[in-house]
Amino acid sequence: MISLYPENTPYKVYTQSEWYGDKWDAMDYGRDFDFNRPFFEQFKELQLAVPRMNLDIVNCENSEYCNYCGDDKNCYLDIAGEGNEDCYYNLFTKFSKDCIDCTFVYNSTLCYETLNSYDCYNVKLSQYCNNCSDLAFCYDCIGCKNCIGCSNLRNKEYYIFNKQVSKEDYAKKMKEIFNGSYKNLQNVRQFWKKHLVDNAIFRDSYQVSCEDSSGNDLKNCKHVNEAFNVTNCEDCAYLYDVLDAKDCMDLNYSLYKPELSYELISTLSMTNSAFSMASHFCNEVFYCDQCNNSKNLFGCDGLNHKQYCILNKQYTKEEYEELVPKIIAHLEKNGGFGEFSPAKYSPFGYNETVAQEYFPLNKEEASKHGYNWQEQEQVSKAENADVINAEDLPDIIEGAGIAKAIKAQSTGKLFKIIQKEFDFYKKNGLPLPRKDPDQRHLDRMELRTSRKLFDRKCSKCAKEISSVYEQARKEKVYCEKCYIEAVY
Ligand SMILES: [Zn+2]
Repeated sequence: MISLYPENTPYKVYTQSEWYGDKWDAMDYGRDFDFNRPFFEQFKELQLAVPRMNLDIVNCENSEYCNYCGDDKNCYLDIAGEGNEDCYYNLFTKFSKDCIDCTFVYNSTLCYETLNSYDCYNVKLSQYCNNCSDLAFCYDCIGCKNCIGCSNLRNKEYYIFNKQVSKEDYAKKMKEIFNGSYKNLQNVRQFWKKHLVDNAIFRDSYQVSCEDSSGNDLKNCKHVNEAFNVTNCEDCAYLYDVLDAKDCMDLNYSLYKPELSYELISTLSMTNSAFSMASHFCNEVFYCDQCNNSKNLFGCDGLNHKQYCILNKQYTKEEYEELVPKIIAHLEKNGGFGEFSPAKYSPFGYNETVAQEYFPLNKEEASKHGYNWQEQEQVSKAENADVINAEDLPDIIEGAGIAKAIKAQSTGKLFKIIQKEFDFYKKNGLPLPRKDPDQRHLDRMELRTSRKLFDRKCSKCAKEISSVYEQARKEKVYCEKCYIEAVY
């Protein structure tokens, strides 16, 4: 099976159908709480005993190579997707169709290598575009159509490098860029990278329809403090990749209206809950993992439709209400209550997690912090695969498809092109990628700003601002007032 746990994991890993099936009962692993031992040690033992799902996907169709996805159809290597169809290699892309290599793209169709964008159609190699169609290499455009190499435009049509052009000039330029040649597209990429830094205006932080909020990549937020990639949230702080939260703090990847919750990761629809992960539709659960449709749980793993359980053991309401405060007092005495499970109990190595992408550490640094480290295989197993080196691919691919696995230039990893993906490239005059999907994801990470706020000055009026761009960056970074004056 395909799994997010490696072969040598100490956890028991079940396929999804097995995990949801009725051949096992998580309550069989129930145990008494031992007041002579630390809580986290006992919780970890429970986690090692209870089977884990190979992948966390909910209600998906023909999308078995995806993870953390819900309602996806015909998707491939789509991560944290929701309601997508025919989408490949995207991260956190929602309600979209026919999109490839996109990150944080919402309600969009036919997009390629696009980031942080909403309501787009046929937008390629662009970032921060909303309500746009037929764009390539654009940055911060709203309501635009048929534009190439433009930045900070509003409601414009047929523009190249921020200048009005004829319909014919636009069509000619598109043909030149998207002629299927890898070398050609690489040259345009390089040119655009420099052109963007030299010409575009960058906002101190990217916020749309927000009130009294700080952070970056915020949309429709009110009273939200230090949040990143967050939409429709109110009275919250320290959120990363969260939608529709109210009165919450310290959430990561939590969706479906979390409320009054604290320190959750990878959850859906949680209320009055804290210190839990990979759990969905729960109320008043604490220190829980893989629990669904439950309430009043403490330190449980793998439970569904349960109430008043501690370490997977059933109690009466009265017993539960008497025992939980005692365990909390025990945790407080040992300095542990009020924080997430210590990182050393994570099922993953630091280097396998998203943390490594935003706050990279080497093995030594990670071990100083007490984080796990997972040695990874450098090169894919390929004993029987028919392989072609990426550098040996012809500049323009003709023909019906590609039968061979490609060995990535930079990493040596093997990857393949699926038929629908090939058709997409061919139809859009795009070359085959030379890098594996993981590396392409990391390249897109490079285009994004860090999840830190720096004190700096506005490049125009020198006002002190808080920004995701450090002072030393080459981009022109404007305060809100200067940005609005310049763009509108
Ligand atoms: Zn300014």
